[in-house]
Amino acid sequence: MDNGLALIVSGPSGSGKDTILRKLFESHPEIKFSISVVTRPRRGDPDEDSKYRFVSVDEFEKMIEHDEFLEHNLYVSNYYGTPRKPVEDAVANGDTIILEIDVNGAANVRKNMPGIKSVFIMPPSMEELERRLSKRGTESPEIVAERIEKAKSEIERKNEYDYIVVNGVLETAVDDLYNIINNIKNI
Ligand code: 5GP
Repeated sequence: MDNGLALIVSGPSGSGKDTILRKLFESHPEIKFSISVVTRPRRGDPDEDSKYRFVSVDEFEKMIEHDEFLEHNLYVSNYYGTPRKPVEDAVANGDTIILEIDVNGAANVRKNMPGIKSVFIMPPSMEELERRLSKRGTESPEIVAERIEKAKSEIERKNEYDYIVVNGVLETAVDDLYNIINNIKNI
């Protein structure tokens, strides 16, 4: 059986992290994804129901009480959390599972799972990041501005990560991430 691996992948909204991960799962369907539990409203993105389980604040707070999270965080006024069991089960089964979480979530997971490796996805430039976030058009200018500020403060913490992938050319970034996974598994 392969060694199980849980890997954190972070990067600000607009870094292209979602697209990289989608491509990675398309070409390597054996890699699992940790579905986060969130209280934010749906944005109408086509793949958001495969990334998130949407719950009420009440339900989320009950899950906190029952210690069901490996980590949870308040991000732009909404709760986001990583359920503990699927991650522990995947690692025990020898699977690779990706935790797509923000920098605070990553720091909290490192406390609970010392030694867990992490990858930070960088946008090609700040200009490109701002362009992508403004283009989405599904959110108010205030929320967009808040996400840009949040992105800048996340990028300042990139050195907390074991690996950095710059999302310049999409295919290269996907290959880089896949190579990182294989390198860690073969250590
Ligand atoms: P979005 O609302 O744009 O889908 O996600 C906002 C941020 O929340 C992203 O940085 C994403 O990585 C992060 N995020 C998604 N799931 C989780 C989670 O389970 N825990 C934490 N801490 N952050 C998460």
